[in-house]
Amino acid sequence: MSAGGDLYGEGVDDEQIRRERAKAREIRKSRWWQTKLSFGVCYYCGKKTPAKELTMDHIVPMARGGTSSKGNLATCCKECNNLKRSMLPMEWDEYMKR
Ligand SMILES: [Zn+2]
Repeated sequence: MSAGGDLYGEGVDDEQIRRERAKAREIRKSRWWQTKLSFGVCYYCGKKTPAKELTMDHIVPMARGGTSSKGNLATCCKECNNLKRSMLPMEWDEYMKR
């Protein structure tokens, strides 16, 4: 990702994203995350989902300056994950307000 045509990122550089990704990898191994997974609920739609089908999602995407902190990480089912990926961040925000 480089400069130009970047509507959403506010000066988030690759280095920062790499750092946050590495942090997320560590957190994935943590007891905190394992406990969250064991609840088996998608943060977004609230659907009961087996732990192995839940993914780690950054509520504020890393590309928009979101960090890998506990407050910004959520369990996400495949459906929400796909939906979120297919939408623009603004569309997703709108969707979540409903
Ligand atoms: Zn979901």
